[in-house]
Amino acid sequence: MPDTPIRNVVIIGSGPAGLTAALYAARADLEPLVIEGQAAGGQLMQTTEVENFPGFPDGRMGPELMMDFRKQAEKFGTEFLTRDVDAVDLTSGSPFAITVGADTILARTVIISTGATARWLGLPNEQRLIGKGVSACATCDGFFFRDRELVVVGGGDSAMEEAMFLTKFASKVTVIHRRDQLRASKIMADRAMANEKIVFEWNSEVVDVLGDDVVTGVVLADTRTGERREMAADGLFLAIGHDPASGLFADQLETDSQGYLVVTEPTTATSIPGVFAAGDITDTIYRQAITAAGQGCKAAIDAERWLEASH
Ligand code: NAP
Repeated sequence: MPDTPIRNVVIIGSGPAGLTAALYAARADLEPLVIEGQAAGGQLMQTTEVENFPGFPDGRMGPELMMDFRKQAEKFGTEFLTRDVDAVDLTSGSPFAITVGADTILARTVIISTGATARWLGLPNEQRLIGKGVSACATCDGFFFRDRELVVVGGGDSAMEEAMFLTKFASKVTVIHRRDQLRASKIMADRAMANEKIVFEWNSEVVDVLGDDVVTGVVLADTRTGERREMAADGLFLAIGHDPASGLFADQLETDSQGYLVVTEPTTATSIPGVFAAGDITDTIYRQAITAAGQGCKAAIDAERWLEASH
């Protein structure tokens, strides 16, 4: 492909990590291209009020915040392609080939910021009430539930952590687990069980979420007998795991056992020189817009320095 121009930086993914990487790369005159995907903007596009992104004392709506991230990156020359990536060839080295439909884009460096998605139960009323009492992020939304009664679904470390965090605000937190044994580590399970605000409902699953405009309760089913009952609740927090969007890259880059891309901390370098990763695709711990944005900034600086050193 002798006539195909080679991009300095191609960023795959357009949440806080990707758009911050774009802003920094654009201001470094690297003329980045963001392949933003058909569902652009990342997880904040499904969020209502964001109160913990510094600089906005009155909070911002998630989609508005992401539109501003995008505008700011565009202002300094970022180009956007609103398509999904079909394939990448990273193992042949820089310049890397990125396939989008019938087109091949060549890039000296690639920043991967495709994020992760929280797992949901997939119930219609759960999806309808996201942001209206249904959440997959206690750190983000716990604050809205002072003196309320909450339900957390899951039996792993995340569920224990979310339940304990929520007891700072809530008057009572009920952990709903589908088995009679937790998956969580013993230390986390012991801590949660010792917390007097936390109660456990074993062998139970949430089969429906109640409420017209906001959550008012859940319907539980006993996983052994199928028997159903209603439980009043002001909020439902899902903590049943996350899925990193690493399918396109997982067989080419080093990943952990759950499929998250491994980077050489404190940098954003992946296992292939010239390929960097930022945001929730690398993050099994923090998963915040601000941490993703910070890592996106690091990725752009890493890419800039790598380009300087190798050309
Ligand atoms: P996880 O360990 O995979 O646990 C997911 C939990 O959700 C399991 O208890 C599972 O039930 C339940 N679950 C999954 N799908 C469900 C469904 N459709 N309906 C009802 N329940 C469902 O995920 P995680 O808790 O997010 O943790 C992920 C990793 O991060 C783990 O390695 C964990 O140790 C780590 N982590 C560590 C910390 C910490 O140490 N501070 C904090 C958070 C996470 P079953 O048990 O029946 O499968």
